[in-house]
Amino acid sequence: MSQQIPLKNLDNDVVEYDLYQKRTKIYTRRIQGFFQSIRTKILWVLMAGYFLTPWINLGDRQAVFFDLPSRQFHIFNVTYWPQDFVLLAWLLIIAAFALFLMTTLFGRVWCGYTCPQTVWTMIFMWIEEKTEGNRNQRIALDKQPMSRSKFFKKFNKHALWVLFSALTGLAFVGYFTPIRELSIEIFTLEAHPWAYFWIAFFTGATYLFAGWMREQVCSFMCPYARFQSVMFDTNTLVISYDEARGENRGKRKRRADLKALNLGDCIDCNQCVHVCPAGIDIREGLQIQCIGCALCIDACDSVMEKMNYPKGLISYTTENSLEGKKTKVWRPKSIGYAIALFIMVISFAYIATDREALGLDVLKDRNRLYNTTPSGMIENIYTIKVMNMDQSDHTFKLEVEGLDGIKVIGRKKIYVTSGEVRSIPLSIQVPPHVLKVQKNKISFTISSIDENFNVSKTTESRFLGPVN
Ligand code: SF4
Ligand code: SF4
Repeated sequence: MSQQIPLKNLDNDVVEYDLYQKRTKIYTRRIQGFFQSIRTKILWVLMAGYFLTPWINLGDRQAVFFDLPSRQFHIFNVTYWPQDFVLLAWLLIIAAFALFLMTTLFGRVWCGYTCPQTVWTMIFMWIEEKTEGNRNQRIALDKQPMSRSKFFKKFNKHALWVLFSALTGLAFVGYFTPIRELSIEIFTLEAHPWAYFWIAFFTGATYLFAGWMREQVCSFMCPYARFQSVMFDTNTLVISYDEARGENRGKRKRRADLKALNLGDCIDCNQCVHVCPAGIDIREGLQIQCIGCALCIDACDSVMEKMNYPKGLISYTTENSLEGKKTKVWRPKSIGYAIALFIMVISFAYIATDREALGLDVLKDRNRLYNTTPSGMIENIYTIKVMNMDQSDHTFKLEVEGLDGIKVIGRKKIYVTSGEVRSIPLSIQVPPHVLKVQKNKISFTISSIDENFNVSKTTESRFLGPVN
């Protein structure tokens, strides 16, 4: 992070600051260690999941496919319809409560290990190191005047960033447009203009956020970074520097007598600062910019190992533990979140298993209230829409009830393929003498005639006749 630099001293006590602070570029050093290896494994799993999922097919369609024009979301062998959006709302609430619980217990593990901003930034940093060299080489390169070698290094970095961003955009749009066709059409210039627009948009956003803005997104744009302090308490796991053990910090020889030198275990090597993607010094205490990536732990542990000191000068700990008090995992806040999460998950499971596989809409023709047929029957015209939300095709039978002598003129057996909404125009006829009032309640029932699929759906409508 950049330090706030005074613009000028107005007099002895008053200093003027520029509220706009220019970003100070952060040059991170690559570090290997226990937590970095966990982060790398998680990165591979997430990347594989993100990029490969749209390529998995289930039957003749993508396993995960958000078909916006048809308003159907296919997630493996379940299809979600607009009426299932309550489930999506539940899912978002569950995700929010899971995040609250996780943050209360383990601090910013989401930010440090799984957040897309963190994961993509890791990849962009890796590309940067491969093209421009390690931390010292990159600092030196930026200080050099432009040369052919510098130009090619920078060009390669940005070209790879743009390429990876474009792949990210393509994969994202591939969740909404069949990716196999899209990947070809994009080069033959036959893709839909919106597909080009969204790929370009996500390419630009990825390049900007992971390449240029990096920690600025976490510090200034992410709302989660702002409100998480509400979930933190003295029992929350945070990454912390053990000040009592580390201070006084200072350089020393490997086997120096610390007591004689009045030094703590921190050798003031700044490795924890050099590896930090947020550019902060954890020794100054917990800061809002810290994303909990634990790289400073890996860096400091490797230094402690070299110095033959015990590891853990920077570690995962809690405020209570640092003060010598007991850490309580289950306290009112975490119990509350856990109970709320449990209730949400049970409710979601109930709604998800109880969701309907058949939908029926009945629309009455509004152009004419009723007709009188040549045989003297009173006729109303309807359009029925049958939605087969099951994973298999089915045949349904239609029955209409509510008035004596009611007749359906039209198809009474309807074949609907999986995921299809079939619209069928119908004429319903009734003998005039049974109509005692102008508006008569009738019901349409559609039921499956297939074995092993015992579902039916009833919808009410009005049958209009002359005023007697
Ligand atoms: S202070 Fe440590 S845990 Fe926090 S962002 Fe920096 S390296 Fe990661
Ligand atoms: S890496 Fe450890 S020893 Fe080095 S400055 Fe940071 S806290 Fe001190």
